[in-house]
Amino acid sequence: MPQKLNHTTLPILAIGALGGTVSMRATQPGTKAGEALFSGMVQLHEGLDVRIETLCLVPSASLCFNLLLEVLIWAQDQVKLGAQGIVITQGTDTLEESAFFLDLLWNADVPLVLTGAMRSSDQPSPDGPANLLDASRVALDTHSRKRGVLVVMNAQIHQAQHVRKCSSMALEAFSSPLFGPAGVMIEHRACYLRKACARTVLPIPRSIHHKVALLQASLSADTVLLEHVLALGYDALVVSAFGAGNVSVEWADLIDQITTEIPVLVGTRTGSGSTAEASCGFIGSELDLTDRGAVMCGLLCPYKARILIWLLIGSGLGREVGKHLQRLGFKAAET
Ligand code: ASP
Repeated sequence: MPQKLNHTTLPILAIGALGGTVSMRATQPGTKAGEALFSGMVQLHEGLDVRIETLCLVPSASLCFNLLLEVLIWAQDQVKLGAQGIVITQGTDTLEESAFFLDLLWNADVPLVLTGAMRSSDQPSPDGPANLLDASRVALDTHSRKRGVLVVMNAQIHQAQHVRKCSSMALEAFSSPLFGPAGVMIEHRACYLRKACARTVLPIPRSIHHKVALLQASLSADTVLLEHVLALGYDALVVSAFGAGNVSVEWADLIDQITTEIPVLVGTRTGSGSTAEASCGFIGSELDLTDRGAVMCGLLCPYKARILIWLLIGSGLGREVGKHLQRLGFKAAET
């Protein structure tokens, strides 16, 4: 762990590099360490004590929860060492999930900002340097405090709970469907469009060896994987369901059995909007699935629902997922 005290009065910015396109050159195999890549960016260092560390160098598809728990500890250490802002760079493919994972556990007021790049440094108009500069400015902006984990990409600031990667290659790959960005960069400054809200932070999981299955409903899908979820030892199931939270009759019958053993969460596969609560009562509808013991995820997408239930199970709170969905604002509280 870094043990560098601040001997200057300059604000401390800590940058942790995890890999991804932002750390890569597309035409040369391999990756370039975060230190080497970012230390040359003169604007980044002006008037700052910048501390850059390469925490790992992997494509973001190969990041995992255990590694993110180490990243969390590293970031907490940076706060103890006096950092006023923290930036994590990583691949964009799983950035929305990492951001949400860290956000659920981040209990400091200091901003933790994630960023990446859609174009590597040797492509024309790479976006990594601009994203890193923006992320650094956001991380050090006092208006970013108490907002949890933020994602800065393409001059937009997104809240971790809402952000999605919605396009595979576009520069404007990230958006926050339904909510919009929390803020935008205007003339190099973070301008927030909404006030910071009260946050709920989960305990750090005590165990990490449990596993959560994620299965997506699709037209005429068979039931083979669903039939084996319990036998395979999964501790929870997330269903990425049609529309407002619907599945086929066959899936509904199997979900009925699975809910007797493990938590089953149902989110919408559409990419935007909420699951329903009381719209339809046909077999496989949200009312039917709720009757069978499944928990509708509301505004939380299936990928992030998998993270939420994994963290809750790790703290022995798996059966309280409905309550946490309300506390975190993904579902309306029952009246
Ligand atoms: N494949 C890259 C990743 O690590 C893509 C990116 O960084 O944008 O996610």
